[in-house]
Amino acid sequence: MLATPDRYAEMLDGASSGGYAFPAINVTSSQTLSAALRGFADAGSDGIVQATVGGARYLAGPSGDAATGARALAALTAELAADLPVAIALHTDHCPPEHVDGFLRPLLAASRERVAAGGRALFNSHMFDGSTLPLGENLARLAGLLEECRALDVVLEVECGVVGGEEDGIGGSEAGSERLYTTPDDLLRVAAALGTGERGRYLLAATFGNVHGLYAPGTVQLRPGILADGQAALARAHPGARFQYVFHGSSGSTPEELAAAVANGVVKVNLDTEAQYAFTRAAAGHMFSHYDGVLAVDGGTGDKRAFDPRAWGETAEAGMAARIAEACEVLGSAGRSVVG
Ligand SMILES: [Zn+2]
Repeated sequence: MLATPDRYAEMLDGASSGGYAFPAINVTSSQTLSAALRGFADAGSDGIVQATVGGARYLAGPSGDAATGARALAALTAELAADLPVAIALHTDHCPPEHVDGFLRPLLAASRERVAAGGRALFNSHMFDGSTLPLGENLARLAGLLEECRALDVVLEVECGVVGGEEDGIGGSEAGSERLYTTPDDLLRVAAALGTGERGRYLLAATFGNVHGLYAPGTVQLRPGILADGQAALARAHPGARFQYVFHGSSGSTPEELAAAVANGVVKVNLDTEAQYAFTRAAAGHMFSHYDGVLAVDGGTGDKRAFDPRAWGETAEAGMAARIAEACEVLGSAGRSVVG
């Protein structure tokens, strides 16, 4: 089933108090969506499905309009997840300032219409990525968006600091390396500007050396202590409050690094690169082992059972689904569902 706002809140709070996290899977097509849904269902885990602006634009097909693609994703997921035994939350990933008017605004407007008609917002949460802005300007824009989202029972994901690497054309590589590490002071400024939940729920993508993409082990210096320092500073300033963090750029992290991040309050772990690879690796395996079936070689006709897109598509989806189920095990969300 699709997660209602209440169930999404339950998911996030359960993860925060229970010391586990949900994988958030980037999807770009009905095939990768199917893989994500299958992975969560196989693991008996609730989960989060998300699209970047670029992913939504690809999903939109010839229309080329990212907001159209996002609406299509929401509609498709509502149909495909309806009878799943786990709750699926829908999220939009990185939206930089230049895409707010063309992407976030139309989606919020569509959600407002639905809510006014007695329905639910299209998405459970949206991310605004103001990491390219000075923090003060980022927070001012976030405060406005938080108010809009709150009215729709939608959670806002905020970013302060810069995730290294590049994802879908959004890169922080030109940023100084010290910006890859959020300071407790930055985190307290977020709490001062956005509250600690009473002005609307938000998830916080604090940066602690995390990098988008896949790197050789040892390249990335994660400092999960930054997340712990942030929690301690928040608890001093606002007793009882706790940040719900998002871990961007988890691909390539060891289970120990993931566990340390989750122990310090990460409730959502974005998984993109490794899921992409799992999908394509399985498809490549099919192509290489059915070479003379997927291609019409030497005047042959190929083998419809091999080149039917469903044949390699199912293999690719199974490969990606297995990687997602594995992530649910590692993050501790496997077997945890608010459904039932
Ligand atoms: Zn990210």
